[in-house]
Amino acid sequence: MTKNEAGWNFDNSYTRLPGIFFSRQNPTPVKEPQLVFLNGGLANSLGLKVEALQREGSVAVFAGNQIPEGAEPLAQAYAGHQFGHFNMLGDGRAILLGEQITPEGERVDIQLKGPGRTKYSRGGDGRAGLGPMLREYIISEAMHALGIPTTRSLAVVMTGEQIIRDTMQHGAILTRVAASHLRVGTFQYGANFGKVEDLRLLADYAINRHYPALEADENKYLLFLKEVIKRQVSLITKWQLVGFIHGVMNTDNMTISGETIDYGPCAFMDTYDPATVFSSIDREGRYAYGNQPYIAGWNLSRFAESLLPLLHEDEDQAVKMAEEALSEFPELFEANWLAGMRKKLGLFNEEKGDKPLIADLLNLMQKHKADFTNTFRALTFGKVEGGDLFQSPEFKEWHEKWQARRGRQEQTKEASHQLMRDSNPAIIPRNHRVEEALEAAVKGDLSVTEKLLEVLSNPYAHSPEQTEFCTPPAPSAKPYRTFCGT
Ligand code: AMP
Ligand code: MG
Repeated sequence: MTKNEAGWNFDNSYTRLPGIFFSRQNPTPVKEPQLVFLNGGLANSLGLKVEALQREGSVAVFAGNQIPEGAEPLAQAYAGHQFGHFNMLGDGRAILLGEQITPEGERVDIQLKGPGRTKYSRGGDGRAGLGPMLREYIISEAMHALGIPTTRSLAVVMTGEQIIRDTMQHGAILTRVAASHLRVGTFQYGANFGKVEDLRLLADYAINRHYPALEADENKYLLFLKEVIKRQVSLITKWQLVGFIHGVMNTDNMTISGETIDYGPCAFMDTYDPATVFSSIDREGRYAYGNQPYIAGWNLSRFAESLLPLLHEDEDQAVKMAEEALSEFPELFEANWLAGMRKKLGLFNEEKGDKPLIADLLNLMQKHKADFTNTFRALTFGKVEGGDLFQSPEFKEWHEKWQARRGRQEQTKEASHQLMRDSNPAIIPRNHRVEEALEAAVKGDLSVTEKLLEVLSNPYAHSPEQTEFCTPPAPSAKPYRTFCGT
């Protein structure tokens, strides 16, 4: 087959950045590529042909055994604060094949995750396991269906090789699609290891790619900072509203585009508790659910720092400008979050008392160990019966206040119900369901993952077939733990 039957249409703007930002690197071929999952809908929207992608030549592309026409594989350089500590990082187990130009003229990165060692691999093997790559596939696609900006998953292949972790695992490669892989850490890298001119070219590149409306403005770098703050606020708010915990919000895992990236130890919260942490390595709770907005602000401060030389030639002036931009974060976050919570409660208009009304509900949920998703589902459908929370007199009191509040708006009860349906998912990728799917998949049974992907693809459908997936896990002695997908 010709390499382009599949519809690859690459234009690789990243290779035109200064050479310090990447190193050219081909994937290391693997023994026996086997296609596990292919995302047909996504492939179509990228201008790729599903039938051709299923053929051997394309599976070889997803495995890194063949380079598609027009691709210019490279590993990106970046740095980052990992749990607060600054390190030089880079794509140690990822290779960018190139940028696909879609039929709509959009530019997206096509990246292989797990394709072998690169210049930035340090002690790692550059490989990834089947379980973690399928986990990223399931959760990133669920996030997309929830309406949350995210990198997407195009394909998973098995390599026919084993990788060594705690135990032996099937090696696998995920093909990831992203608006770009520019990170806060890319800017930290430019600021720390490049010349000011390199940093400027990087910023110009990011503005051109993600914020083209700012290009002509004489204050474009300050506006760029403000726009990235806005997109991150919007993103983190969306995480909070569905109970998503990223788990490793290091600055290298925070995108300039405002997409969720790097599904390692992430997980969705069942029982509402702001202190919820799943990651085995997050012993201090730095990246706990309730801490995510604060950490986003901290990461954005690191971003602002790296932009200082571009903001103003006088450093004091530059610091002032950065501080002014960052000072907007708390208010911006609160406004976004309140707007989202009002929707979850079926409220169209604003009242002063909304903030305490919402806080009271969350406090009661925490006190009575209520399931986050199911509490809002029950409120949506008026099924507030059973369970500690709904039986408590304090909840009944809260419920009356909320009903009265809902009455104080022009919109009908039906409209309010519809708003709640559209704002409260019936289903999230619950940890026990994801684990069950992965366990079957690594043993060769993909049907459980297929079914899970199907019900997750329309989380606001509230369809009968979703009901069995709504059940929270049985309380167990051992809390759920996640691990970095290494
Ligand atoms: P992550 O935790 O996935 O955000 O990765 C943090 C850093 O470790 C990045 O620079 C990765 O490229 C690198 N890394 C993670 N796993 C591996 C691996 N198996 N081999 C080489 N580098 C890795
Ligand atoms: Mg990362």
